[in-house]
Amino acid sequence: MTIQTNICPRCGKPTEEGLCPQCRAADTKLLACEPRVTAVYCPVCDSQKRGKTWSDLRMPREDLIAELAVSAVSIHEDAKNLKVAVRSEDTASNRTACTVEVEGTLYSVPVSETCEVEILWQKEACDRCSRISGGYYEGIVQVRATDRKINAYEREVAASIAEQAEESLQQSGDRLSFISELEDSKDGVDITVGSQHLGQEIARMVTGALGGRYTTHPKLVGEKDGKALYRVTYSIRLPFYQKGDVVVSRGGYFEVREIDGRRLRVFDLQTGATRTLAETEVERLLGNVRDAESALVVFTQPNMVGLMDPKTYRTRELSAVPWTFPVEGQPIRVLRDEEQDRLVIVG
Ligand SMILES: [Zn+2]
Ligand SMILES: [Zn+2]
Repeated sequence: MTIQTNICPRCGKPTEEGLCPQCRAADTKLLACEPRVTAVYCPVCDSQKRGKTWSDLRMPREDLIAELAVSAVSIHEDAKNLKVAVRSEDTASNRTACTVEVEGTLYSVPVSETCEVEILWQKEACDRCSRISGGYYEGIVQVRATDRKINAYEREVAASIAEQAEESLQQSGDRLSFISELEDSKDGVDITVGSQHLGQEIARMVTGALGGRYTTHPKLVGEKDGKALYRVTYSIRLPFYQKGDVVVSRGGYFEVREIDGRRLRVFDLQTGATRTLAETEVERLLGNVRDAESALVVFTQPNMVGLMDPKTYRTRELSAVPWTFPVEGQPIRVLRDEEQDRLVIVG
């Protein structure tokens, strides 16, 4: 057995083979940097362009700067235990000077290097903003009601659902699902959308929340990049009856819980039972529980409850309803039936 001792040809220290680690590390450049990177962004919505793709910026500016600066730096592949720090300073409205500091080890020898990278910020209208400013759209959602005007509550629900749908599609990366106009017209609400996906989603969610149906009416408007371009009208018809409506049928009062075509799923305000009513069985519409008044419970008896009429301040006696528990001194919600001169407990 022979013991071999090698010697570093540069410094003369013992080494396994060739240059010793210190001399190898000293010979190796840890970093290679590009002096400048260009970051393209949309001045309107702050989207960032990577290559040819736009995306919504969802990180703090500081993190974006760090990411851009680090992207200009290549670190030697043999480096280990890396620690990277970025310092930056805006030197002009479109320039940021960065210092990238990298620490690590090369062949077990601690090393550190820095390099300077300048970020050049370039403005460009993004795909979405250029579509919006160019008046591009793929559909209109029209919210209307059957044989009546749509009310303020429905307008509000439709508008907020539209905004939620836009938000959630864009969050999932569907950038071109934008609302370019949300208009309150005399007849209802018109929502102009940048994608059919969004139009479909709004129509589905609005009818889900308010009942009713929608039909789609595509219209060929031309060609774009060799593909037929359609604009679709999503025509929503909200039902005549709405959730929370209280209707009269054969002397009973029923609260509408669901609307399925011409059939109503109702809650019997006397017995508390749930049943189905055909629209043809409805004699008249009393009102909606949203507009209920508050009446004070004056007394309760096993089969009777006394309420103070909020208009006349006189006590009225009503038969007790088994599905609710009036408490003396507490308010309870009622609807007024002018025709029968009665108060109807709605809970
Ligand atoms: Zn050496
Ligand atoms: Zn934009």
